[in-house]
Formats: sequence, structure tokens, C-alpha cells
Amino acid sequence: MRDDMKHMRPESLMMSYGYEPSWSEGAIKCPIFQTSTFVFKTAEEGKRFFEVAYGIREQEPEEKMGLIYSRLNNPDLEILENRLTLWDGADQACVFESGMSAISTMLLAHLSPGDVILHSNPLYGGTDHFINNVLTKFGVKTLCFNPWDDEQTIIELAQKEAGNKLKMIYLETPANPTNTLIDIEMCSNVAKKMSSEEQKVLLAVDNTYMGPVWQHPMKHGADLVLYSATKYIGGHSDVIAGACLGSDEAMIPVRTLRTFLGSMAGPWTGWLLMRSLETLKVRMDQQARNAAKVADFLVNHPKVEKVYYPGLLTEADGREFEVFKKQCSSGGAMIAFDVVGGEKEAFTFLNSLKLAHLAVSLGSTESLAEHPATMTHADVDADLKQQMGITEKLVRFSVGVEHYEDLISDIGQALDQING
Ligand SMILES: *Cc1c(COP(=O)(O)O)cnc(C)c1O
Repeated sequence: MRDDMKHMRPESLMMSYGYEPSWSEGAIKCPIFQTSTFVFKTAEEGKRFFEVAYGIREQEPEEKMGLIYSRLNNPDLEILENRLTLWDGADQACVFESGMSAISTMLLAHLSPGDVILHSNPLYGGTDHFINNVLTKFGVKTLCFNPWDDEQTIIELAQKEAGNKLKMIYLETPANPTNTLIDIEMCSNVAKKMSSEEQKVLLAVDNTYMGPVWQHPMKHGADLVLYSATKYIGGHSDVIAGACLGSDEAMIPVRTLRTFLGSMAGPWTGWLLMRSLETLKVRMDQQARNAAKVADFLVNHPKVEKVYYPGLLTEADGREFEVFKKQCSSGGAMIAFDVVGGEKEAFTFLNSLKLAHLAVSLGSTESLAEHPATMTHADVDADLKQQMGITEKLVRFSVGVEHYEDLISDIGQALDQING
């Protein structure tokens, strides 16, 4: 791509950035490089590529890194990774075969025995399990805070329980499933205050729920951004993938460990995600416009008790509204709501949907609905569930790209079945 196009918006560059048709017989799309290994022109060239890949010497400023072997690099991954960095303003991105492999590789790359990780609550179930059941086996200590805790409360907790052992703060905002917002900048301040000359406390943010279009955690001080690319980035419910982005400094250990764990995505996954990125902005914009209409419909429905959707926040909501204005450019497309009643009423609603599907996952072109208390959040501690508002009457709805009037009519007829 020409340098004079770099200032353009990411959605304008998703079709071309980082790829030259002349590399592939003029093909307008980057082909699938379904190959395990790459032929070196000379033995000297192979030697130079390995010196850089294994960190034996630094890459020269003008030197292009050559292709070696698809666990280390592959054009479908490299071009995809370069395109992903544009949305978040990251130096580097790494793509993985799942969101969980992005998250687990990043955590293992930065944490060592004796370190403490402080995380927000609630977390995605898989992440919670990895942090609290797997990392702890390797001597990493875990601490958590709640979405409504303020800066001082979190600092006091970190000083008392972690001291100079704190290595990472890990967030998910909006929190799944109730859309509670956590202030990224506030957590970045905590990380700065807890850092010392010897040890920088890293801030990592799982941005799956709002990104990469509606929230950019690095602009608010995050060092690392994580994605389940299975969700909005893939967007068609046909691929499992993940990504980790950040500064060069924060990403080098992640990229190195990915090579040795072998948790990179394959060329076919890379190709599918490049296809998806071309429509990311139009899909997400449409989903958010639909979600705003659906939220307005739900708020006024007699069978709905309460709607949790960031786009409905107003000044009366105080701090949460401030955080929303500061870090989100849209209300997103994830809505949670309490039906009037309990599990029976929520199940009647879910079983009555015709256009929207009853399935977990989110951010896809088709609308999906599920029951967090018995599905995605089934193994969250009962007290915590209650505290977080993950009750029997709560339904989570991921709004797709269908026409909003058809969605509203489907949701309306399903709500009418309750005690109907
Ligand atoms: C789905 C999800 C993950 C896990 O991603 P996979 O692609 O399923 O491995 C992590 N975090 C959040 C917020 C998710 O929604």
C-alpha cells in the first residue's frame, strides 16, 4: 500500500492494506497460502531469517522479515495482523486459533510464579477458569475487584494484598452479561501508581464486547487488548479465532510464546477473518442501530422489568454515564433484560423466538439469545451471580443485521407468549 494512504480510516483500508496484487498474479484478494513451509532462495537467506526469528540479532531498519514456516509466520496471518492494528492504533497484533488461546498465551507470557494478577468481575467463564484454576497451579496469585469499586478502593486492595508483586490488571468492559462499565483510564491510573522502576504493572483489556470499532482501550492507557475474533471480528458464526494487540514492548513476549506453544491461527482462519474485516464497520454500525431500536422497544414493554444497555444511560446514571461518554462511541449491540417473572418466563421467551436463534456466542450477523444464569454463567458462584444481577429472569440478546422491524416483531411475539 502507498504511504500516502496511511492516514485513511480503517474501514477504507480493510480491502487493500498490506497486500500487493502483483505478489499473486494480480489476484485482487490475498490468496490462501495453505502451505506449511517456505523455500529460501539461498542458504545465506535462510540463516538471516532465522537470526531475526530467534532473536539472535535485531532486525535491521530496512530489512524485510522473510517467510520461514507457518507456525512462525504466514502471509494470511501477517496481512490480517497488520490490518487489525489499524483499529486500535497498536504496534503489533498476533492472531490465534481461539480467543482463549490469545488470552492464555498472553497471560502465560507475562506472568511468573509469585506474581499477582488483579482482575475485574465478572469475567468470561473460560478466562475466569484459566486465571483462577490454571494460573494458580503455577504459583500466580489472583485478586478481583467489582465493577462499582472506585480507584481508591482498588489501590487499597492492591497495596494490601499484592504490594510490589502486582504484575497485571485484567479487565472486561462492558462486563458480560449485564453491560456494567468499568473505567479503563481509572484502572490505568491504578497500574501506574502500582508500578515501580523495576516492575511495570501491565493493563490488559478484553475488548470483545465493544471492539474493535466502538472502544479503543489503548487510547485510555491499556498496554494489551484481547479479542475473541469469533465474535464481531469474524462476525458470521463460522470461525473460532482470537487476537492480542499492543505495543511492541508488550507484544514481543506474546509473539515469542505463541511460536513455542503453537497457538497461532492457520492460513484458512486468517483468510476468513480478512474477508470478515472488509464488512466489520458496516456490520457493527447496523447492529448498533438495530440494538438501539430494540432497546427502546424493550424499555416500554409490559413483560420487561429492566433493560441493561449502555445506549440507554443518561446523566442520571452518574459515573457510569461519564465512563460511557469517555470510552465508548456506541451503545453496542449486546442487550440484557429482565423479564417479568423468573426462569420459566425467560425460557418461554427463548423457546418462542422464531427469527433470533437460541444460542450462546455474540456479535454475529444473526441475532442470538440465551439465558446467562443457566448457560454462559452457569458455574459462577451463586452469591456473586446475585450481586452481579445474573438472575433467573435475565436474558442476553446479541442483535444482528436483520431488519429491526422484523426483530422487534419476533421479540414482541415471544414476549407475548409469557403467561399468555
Ligand atoms: C467468547 C469470548 C471469549 C473466548 O473466545 P473463544 O473464541 O470462544 O475462545 C473471551 N472473552 C469474551 C468476552 C468472549 O465473549
